[in-house]
Amino acid sequence: MFNLVLFGPPGSGKGTQAAKLVENYNFVHLSTGDVLREEMRKGTPVGLEAKTLIDRGELVPDEVVIEIIRSRIKGLNNVEGFIFDGFPRTTRQAEELDKMLEEEGMAIDLMITFDVDEDVIISRILERGKDSGRADDQNPEIIKNRIKIYHDQTVVVAHHYRKQNKYASVNNMGTIDETFSKLSKHIYKN
Ligand code: ADP
Repeated sequence: MFNLVLFGPPGSGKGTQAAKLVENYNFVHLSTGDVLREEMRKGTPVGLEAKTLIDRGELVPDEVVIEIIRSRIKGLNNVEGFIFDGFPRTTRQAEELDKMLEEEGMAIDLMITFDVDEDVIISRILERGKDSGRADDQNPEIIKNRIKIYHDQTVVVAHHYRKQNKYASVNNMGTIDETFSKLSKHIYKN
């Protein structure tokens, strides 16, 4: 079993690389952003609460995303591993993730951060916004707010895993395949 956290600023390629991992390994991909967007599409109470925050580029409350993850990993301890994408984004989320994995007899093996320059991130997100229709991907001010929140609240989460010697970084300025080949070298290696 290998449980991986994909980390990095918005638009750094977490979702793209998670999809490549799922093609190549028997991992379960858990993206809190994808789950929240699904709830928004269905118009559930969680989706309605999340929409206002996501459209402004703010974080959804910790309790909401923690429960999303808890409900999805419960009882699933016989999979090859989980890829956590976009979670944890705060220290509290990281602490809760460790606890819930421990309850299921699991742990995080590695966090990998994708390093990408900020100007590249902004242009990649704006490009994605043309196809995805995501409101939060179409407005440069909202994108800058998400990057600011990443620096203010999320970057510290890396420290949580660095302290546990479960941290690596991969440069993601090149092509999808180049990054995937660098990323693959870390799988099952920690
Ligand atoms: P990106 O990586 O481009 O920011 P995501 O799909 O991961 O895209 O997240 C989109 C939005 O969903 C975030 O800006 C935030 O509002 C919300 N969100 C996703 N995951 C979390 C989380 N773990 N904690 C709080 N909010 C979250």
